[in-house]
Amino acid sequence: MVMSIPDPGSEAELTLEFPHCYGGCMSLPNWRIGRALGIPIHVHASWFVVFFFVTWSLATGYLPETLPGLSAPRYWGMGGIAALLLFLSVLLHELGHSYVALRYQIPIRRITLFIFGGVAHMEKEPPSPRAEFLIAMAGPLVSLLLGAGCLGGTIAAESFFGQSWFQGLVVLGSLLGMVNVQLGLFNLIPGFPLDGGRVLRAGLWAWNKDFNRATSQAALAGIGFGVALGLIGGGLMVGAWSGAMGNSFATNGGWLIFIGTFLFSAALASRRRAALHTSSASVTVRQVMIHRVVTLLPDMSVQDAVDQYFIAHGFGGFPVCEEGQVLGVVTVQDVQALPTALWPWRRVREIMRPAVPAFCIPPDWSATQAMERMVQGGLDRLVVMENGAIVGLITRSAIAHFLQLHRA
Ligand SMILES: [Zn+2]
Repeated sequence: MVMSIPDPGSEAELTLEFPHCYGGCMSLPNWRIGRALGIPIHVHASWFVVFFFVTWSLATGYLPETLPGLSAPRYWGMGGIAALLLFLSVLLHELGHSYVALRYQIPIRRITLFIFGGVAHMEKEPPSPRAEFLIAMAGPLVSLLLGAGCLGGTIAAESFFGQSWFQGLVVLGSLLGMVNVQLGLFNLIPGFPLDGGRVLRAGLWAWNKDFNRATSQAALAGIGFGVALGLIGGGLMVGAWSGAMGNSFATNGGWLIFIGTFLFSAALASRRRAALHTSSASVTVRQVMIHRVVTLLPDMSVQDAVDQYFIAHGFGGFPVCEEGQVLGVVTVQDVQALPTALWPWRRVREIMRPAVPAFCIPPDWSATQAMERMVQGGLDRLVVMENGAIVGLITRSAIAHFLQLHRA
């Protein structure tokens, strides 16, 4: 799976304050375990649940059935190795996406392996439908090639060396082959944000030339497939409970419901975000900005700034200006970082974050453009300039509130 950074699921860069499906899950700790293609690889806490579940189900079910007569520690060892190889398969799938994205000059912030597989976090959206298509296809293609390679290799080894040749290796090889084929095929389900859904979006985007509309339509397909997976999962569980099907169908059914729910909520969040983008594209900065901008002087003390501005106005931050020039910005966080005892002795100039050119925008930009600038620069507020003068201030939360009202 690939996700662009402003997508639900990325933490701090959430474009708007929107409830998103796996925010709770994503806030668990994750650890950096290495680098590949220059991209940091992270493992999320929830991934260990999958690791244990896969190892356990192989060690107690699949392996004793296919390879009878071994000791329990052997089964657990083989299960653990298979789970690690599965982990490697998912990583290679994500590296497939990442390799193509990097060729399109889209930086990948990191790859995270979590309960549903992996996500490559792209810094921005693909530049064209063609790029979207190729980036999305690269992951499943890697999985299908790996799967074909493992299955082909196992069949060749078996026919060449005979049945008895390293039975354990043959079982592991064919298992890994099947899992990779499944990984490739499952991700090709045409429901956004799965890879197949991205392929669908690329097609719709090329067709109707409207990125947000294409996202919205592909996400609708994602919602549909999420519901369908949930229903199939429910059917399997009912079948297993009523005795019509084997017990293993109940586990598979539960897993399908889990994945269906995930797809449903991720697709719903993408659809909402697309709707929000559509409405924010038609809103200008002038409509959303705060018109009466209160600015601070660089040489006033931090204590005065707190007493006369932060407390009096209740804003989260102020631009620092002198003779009509924006020198920087001071936020509540900058003040809090300074010990209270030093407030009377430090000047605003010393704790402000200096202005960068990216900090000022014209009033006729769309709210979307302003939002993108804030996300890229990691800024919460921008100064609106017209003819060399400050005419307003725009903040992330103001845009979010405006759009919520706008939709209502
Ligand atoms: Zn993928």
